[in-house]
Amino acid sequence: MVTATPDASRLAPISQTQRRVVVADELGYCWGVRRALDIVQDAAGKTGPIAPIGDVIHNPQVVERLRARGVEGAGSVDEAVGRGFHRVAITAHGMGPHLAEQAAAANVELIDSTCPLVTKVQRLAQKLVRQGYFLVVYGDAYHPEVKSVIGWAGTSKAIAAKKVADLPWNARRGEAGEGKVAPPRKVAVVSQTTKNVDELMKFTSELSAMVVPEGGEFRLCNTICEPTSERQNALKRLVERDNVDVILAIGGRKSSNTARLAEVGNALGVASYHIERPDEIEDAWLEQATTVGVTAGASTPDDVIEEVVAALATRGFAPPVGGIRPVDPDYVPAY
Ligand code: SF4
Repeated sequence: MVTATPDASRLAPISQTQRRVVVADELGYCWGVRRALDIVQDAAGKTGPIAPIGDVIHNPQVVERLRARGVEGAGSVDEAVGRGFHRVAITAHGMGPHLAEQAAAANVELIDSTCPLVTKVQRLAQKLVRQGYFLVVYGDAYHPEVKSVIGWAGTSKAIAAKKVADLPWNARRGEAGEGKVAPPRKVAVVSQTTKNVDELMKFTSELSAMVVPEGGEFRLCNTICEPTSERQNALKRLVERDNVDVILAIGGRKSSNTARLAEVGNALGVASYHIERPDEIEDAWLEQATTVGVTAGASTPDDVIEEVVAALATRGFAPPVGGIRPVDPDYVPAY
């Protein structure tokens, strides 16, 4: 459940000097990842092995566990077929339309576990392109979700960018001079769902200043998903509430939203570390710490969070009272 109100009962009744772990109100598995895992595991249980194209989620521990249940990633449809799979799956991050074509050509069944919040961005990208906008996808060019959005946009007038220097333009509309390249008249931005809203706003305010002069039209669609925003907001609340000395953001190395959480923590002035496993915790980080704040990305399973809390307990940090978090199975984020 998305809960904006801090729950005092989850804090240990301890003195100010006792070392302790505090956890964000929202952390770990998001709705879209839980849904994708349910779809793929259900299908594998009923119909036999499935090869998701790429990692089902960006978490190596979960990928390993799924392998034992007949869900094993492949780099491409051809590779899956070569390894004897008759079913392939699209992961929560989504894929471009080419994947369905490849699956049909190879005569393999396709299971789609794309998060509906990613599907929304893909459809929006198509619509904006049809409306004549040059599409900028604010995000990591290498990330499967960003690639899928650009794939569905289906045009050469779409690019991924994280900063103004990534854009093919370097001037405001109407600005003349040698080497100056101004944007087209209509530019729209959508965001990778797991980005940081403050950074998106900074990027788009710079870009809109380039597009709007001389009758230009700029459109921003904030497609950062609610679970991502909630995890970032929960971390901000944790820092405000609990006098946190160090933050551990737990998640796979490739997890974009976990990296964002560590960035948010650092931006709040608290030393923050992105770790994948408990054995990555360095004693030096904790030497001066009384309160360690814990958060986790949207693809981090609860047991990995528990392992980190247990590793901190062996270093003398009291675990959070009431466990790591409550989960509302009926929660569905706003589309
Ligand atoms: S982070 Fe957001 S968009 Fe991505 S899977 Fe989770 S809910 Fe869906």
